[in-house]
Amino acid sequence: TIVVFGSINLDLVVEVPHLPVRGETVVGNRFFSATGGKAANQAVAVAKLGVPVYSIGRVGSDNFGKVLLENLQKAGVDTRGVTIDPDTHSGVASIVIDEYGDNAIACAAGANNLVREQELSDFQALLPQAKVILMELGIPLATVMEALKRAQDSNCTIILDPAPVKSKLPDEIYQMVDIITPNEIEASQLVGFTVDGITTARQAAFFLHQMGAKTVIITLGSQGAFCSTGEESYWVRPIPVKAIDTVAAGDAFNGALAVALAEGKSLKEAIQWGNVAGALTVTKRGAQSSLPHKESFLQLLAQ
Ligand code: ADP
Repeated sequence: TIVVFGSINLDLVVEVPHLPVRGETVVGNRFFSATGGKAANQAVAVAKLGVPVYSIGRVGSDNFGKVLLENLQKAGVDTRGVTIDPDTHSGVASIVIDEYGDNAIACAAGANNLVREQELSDFQALLPQAKVILMELGIPLATVMEALKRAQDSNCTIILDPAPVKSKLPDEIYQMVDIITPNEIEASQLVGFTVDGITTARQAAFFLHQMGAKTVIITLGSQGAFCSTGEESYWVRPIPVKAIDTVAAGDAFNGALAVALAEGKSLKEAIQWGNVAGALTVTKRGAQSSLPHKESFLQLLAQ
C-alpha cells in the first residue's frame, strides 16, 4: 500500500481576455473547476496506475468537499483517512488565465491548514501496511514534521516532495526522509542558488546532502531527472514527447516513483518510471485528467 499525506484542493478557473487590474471586473469566456492539491494529484496518479493507495487529509463540509471526496473515490483512492471538517471550507484556488496562458492565483488553504492530530493518528494506523509514504508541504509544516517523526520506526520508504516551498526547511527534516524530490525551482529555493540543468542539480544535491538529505532526486522538466544518493549520482534521461501542458508532471513523477519502489524496483528504474509518467502527463491538458492510466504507462515503459 502507498499512503499519500497532504493537501486536497479545488481549482476554480475563469478564462479571461486579459488579467484584471485593481478594481476591474473582466468578463470571462469560460469557467471550469478542477480537482487538485498536490497530495490528491499524487494519490490519483498512484490509483490510475492500479496500485492501492490511501489519501490522508482534510476537506470542508461544503459542496466542494463533497466534490473532492467523490473525485478521489471515483479514481479508486481509499478516502477513509480524509476528514470532513465541520467548521471550515475546503482548500480552493481561484485562478484567472488570460489568452496567453498567463495567470493570477489566489489560494485559501481552508481545511488543509487544520490537518493535525486526527490525520496524524489515521496516518499512524496505516504505517504497518504502508510500503511507501508520499508527503508534501501543502499542510502545516508542524504536522509534516510530526508525521515524519512517527514514521521513523516503520519500514517504509518516505518520499517528500518539498512543494510548495516557502523558504529554507528546518534542517531536521532532511534526515527524516529517504528521498526528497524537488523540481528545479524548489531546489533553487532550498539551496539559495539557481538550479537549472544537470550541472547545477549536482551542486544542489551536494548541498542538500550536507544538510542531511539521503537520496536527492531533482526533476528537470523536459530534461528528465538527476539523482544523487550521496554514494553515486546519475542523470536519468527524459522520454522525448511533445509537451502541451506541463501541469501535474511532477505529481505523475512522484506517483510512479512511489509505485515502482513499492513493487521492489531499483531506484534507477523507479526514476525511469517517474520519467515515463511525467512525459505522458505533459502530452495532455489538465491536471488529474492528464495523469496516465496503467495501459498507456506500461506501453510507453516497454518501448
Ligand atoms: P513539476 O511538474 O513539479 O514542475 P517537472 O517539470 O520537473 O516537475 O516535471 C516532472 C517530470 O516530468 C520530469 O522529471 C520529467 O520526467 C517529466 N517531464 C516534464 N516535462 C517534460 C517534457 N517536456 N518532456 C518529457 N518529460 C517531461
